[in-house]
Amino acid sequence: MDEKPIDKHIILDELNELKDLDHDYSDGRILGSMCTKAHPFAKEVYYKFLDANLGDPGLFKGTKIIENKVIESIGELLSIEKPYGNIVTGGTEANLMAMRAARNHARKYKGIVDGEIIVPQSAHFSFKKAADMLNLKIVEAKLDNYKIDVESIKQLISDKTVAIVAIAGTTELGLIDPIEEISKIAHENNIYFHVDAAFGGFSIPFLRDMGYDLPVFDFSLEGVCSITIDPHKMGLAPIPAGGIIFRKEEYLDVMAIDSPYLTVKTQSTIVGTRSGAASAATYAIMKYFGKEGYSKLIENLMVNTKFLKENLEKIGYEVICEPELNLVAFNHPEMETHKLAEELEKLGWKVSVAKCPVAIRVVLMNHIKMEHLKELVEDLKEIF
Ligand SMILES: *Cc1c(COP(=O)(O)O)cnc(C)c1O
Repeated sequence: MDEKPIDKHIILDELNELKDLDHDYSDGRILGSMCTKAHPFAKEVYYKFLDANLGDPGLFKGTKIIENKVIESIGELLSIEKPYGNIVTGGTEANLMAMRAARNHARKYKGIVDGEIIVPQSAHFSFKKAADMLNLKIVEAKLDNYKIDVESIKQLISDKTVAIVAIAGTTELGLIDPIEEISKIAHENNIYFHVDAAFGGFSIPFLRDMGYDLPVFDFSLEGVCSITIDPHKMGLAPIPAGGIIFRKEEYLDVMAIDSPYLTVKTQSTIVGTRSGAASAATYAIMKYFGKEGYSKLIENLMVNTKFLKENLEKIGYEVICEPELNLVAFNHPEMETHKLAEELEKLGWKVSVAKCPVAIRVVLMNHIKMEHLKELVEDLKEIF
């Protein structure tokens, strides 16, 4: 640290210079991110609540009411009347909370000490972190056409299983697992079932209402115990904003730790001091858009998705699977994928390569406009 105070302008100059090294969503070149530019109104609200600490809700009663209201609104979107949960830093923390709830619940009610979680091969890497921290063993369910093979889950269930995980909107391909079938299996076997809808949570409900043929993934299925849903992806809330919603209060109770010096007696979240700004901004943007606003937004992303998919096929690229959400993954039969990614990087695109299957993945987020897609298709044509 410097010995003497430094003038604000000098500090800002230095920071701005470094910020210039960052990529900006606005130029439409970031192809693989699941986050995007937050809505200006959400940012404005975020700033107002920067000091609100939901780790000590007795001091920030108003902000705590806002968090409860957000959880209720998200709950409504996910077909549950009385949801429990929190706005957290993102999908990773939400998944960690879900796995912790499942582990503690199984420990308390079934006496399982060295638990296992059944997770698809397509799962987000956050489950590896959760397993590591919670001392759980990951048992990987096989895929069938890039979605969980339900038979594989049946075979993997054991008396150590503390949770089954399925995904509504996979990170690599944007696909939705057969959640209804898995929910039945979990329910019949009395096993905790978590749905990771970090990516798909803010789009599938609207798309279904618009008549898109997508499967049910939410609390209307009796086996679903918790759902991860990220406002900072398609919800257009500023980062960090993730959501974890539980069906029953007892899942929060089994995680409760005494918090002696605070205004509340116990805490179930992983972090202590935590952002009230994320809740306020998420509340604001959900009100501001309404179902109508989100429907329009998502529909537009699906139009872009269709445009990209069809044009890729026209110019000789192979699309891995029919997109279910706003994500297109592709290859070219005559070029190795990493080489193709390099070529695109040379042309100024920020490219992401999926691992399973190896493919270039484009997440059609709100910052990628039609004009950018046309440029991308032109560049892809040029490469050959
Ligand atoms: C993005 C994502 C996550 C992780 O969310 P973060 O907000 O990056 O922590 C988890 N699961 C799925 C399916 C995701 O798409």
